[in-house]
Amino acid sequence: MKRNTTGKLFSGLLLLAVLSCNKAENSTTTPGANDSEPEQTPVTAPVEEATAAAAARVASPVPGYTVTYPYGIKNPRYAAGYHTGDDYAAPTGAKVVAVLGGTIVWSNNNGGAYGRWIGLRATNGRDYVYCHLSVRSVSTGTKVVAGQKIGEVGATGNVTGPHLHFEDRPKGGGYGQVRKPTW
Ligand SMILES: [Zn+2]
Repeated sequence: MKRNTTGKLFSGLLLLAVLSCNKAENSTTTPGANDSEPEQTPVTAPVEEATAAAAARVASPVPGYTVTYPYGIKNPRYAAGYHTGDDYAAPTGAKVVAVLGGTIVWSNNNGGAYGRWIGLRATNGRDYVYCHLSVRSVSTGTKVVAGQKIGEVGATGNVTGPHLHFEDRPKGGGYGQVRKPTW
């Protein structure tokens, strides 16, 4: 009798041990929080897009080159009596880009002292004038986006060396109707 009780007790403990063992296994094999981690990836994507949008602002009409002779310097050599644009000295063939999106309103070789030239009517309502080009990559009427190549630096017209002369005029403005180029 005593022996039977001990035997029942033993098998009862064994059953408990097996049950608790299963329970422990179940809790560790429950679908883990780790499985949801890939969902974090989309959270970082909008940040990257925002960075790309901010970087889309064009820093220079001649990427990689800065102003070497600025707007506004008084100089009797010019009909206006002052320098009517910003100059970017760069090698012939350097890429010239649209500073803003817009439409090409002229692209020809008839710039006179300005040589081969292009006019960009930008989305801000201003006309940007690209002068002394060696190559024109767009035609009148072409729609362009900011940063798109429209030509190459050259030395056509009245120049002492290759550079881009870059003007900022009101819509339809002529020579001398200019402001310090900004976009
Ligand atoms: Zn100039």
